[in-house]
Amino acid sequence: NYPRILGHELSGELVEFDEAPGFQKGDIVTLLPYLSCGKCVACLAGKTNCCTTLQVCGVHIDGGMADYYAVPSRLLVPAQGLGPDELALVEPLAIGAHGIRRAAVRPGEYVLVMGAGPIGLGLMEFARLGGAEIIAMDMNTRRLDFCSSELGIKYMIRAGGSDVMHQLLDITNGNMPTVVIDASGNLKAINQGLNYLAHGGRYVLVGLQKEEMVFSHPEFHKREATLLSSRNATREDFDYVIQCIKKDLIHPLSFITNRVKFKDAAEGFPRWLNPDSGVIKVLLETD
Ligand SMILES: [Zn+2]
Repeated sequence: NYPRILGHELSGELVEFDEAPGFQKGDIVTLLPYLSCGKCVACLAGKTNCCTTLQVCGVHIDGGMADYYAVPSRLLVPAQGLGPDELALVEPLAIGAHGIRRAAVRPGEYVLVMGAGPIGLGLMEFARLGGAEIIAMDMNTRRLDFCSSELGIKYMIRAGGSDVMHQLLDITNGNMPTVVIDASGNLKAINQGLNYLAHGGRYVLVGLQKEEMVFSHPEFHKREATLLSSRNATREDFDYVIQCIKKDLIHPLSFITNRVKFKDAAEGFPRWLNPDSGVIKVLLETD
């Protein structure tokens, strides 16, 4: 609902607080931008990421594209040695880490990631750390080039081509990927993704889509497929991402393709939203 101040991927300096155990003024922090209730069935099961009354900063309530931003101290995440730029990337990476945790990716298996935007790239990075063979799929060849040059992805498929099925069969020695993950949010891709899945495989939906998806029951049933959604992330995912960056296992700074002063953000948005612009992540800097 609008009007809404955006901003759920951010870092900042702690300038003022009533009570924030373990934190000091001047600390650089990021935050879990998910306000969970702490008492619903999901929260009690530790799944605060899918709380029944979840409010996401920048979506359901105002977010952090502001000079100052106030949040409950329980949402704060300490920098643990990371710089502010890396810290601002922890949230989108945590979405990827959570998706791979949901998929329970095993070493050596083929993982198809549909959509090579920032979330897709994060999924690929954590699938790589899980020892998987990654296949990147996107409509946009620039994004596939980025997968190859920055992430070292070996297998790339242009979505929408007529020979996608054959390419997947070739890459996977005729078996198809045992994990298919949608990070595109594109309805056609979501409906088609099941057909790319190996028998016995897991299909994980990370991207957002508002319409109804449609699968053929025989296609689903004959695979004994597992269908999973993956929503947001938990503090465990945030901590895992931070540890991975600290250990130099992932290099998220390459995702920042543009740096812009906060005051110039409004006029830049239409340009950045175009996938052909080559933009992966824009870092907005406040003074
Ligand atoms: Zn809850």
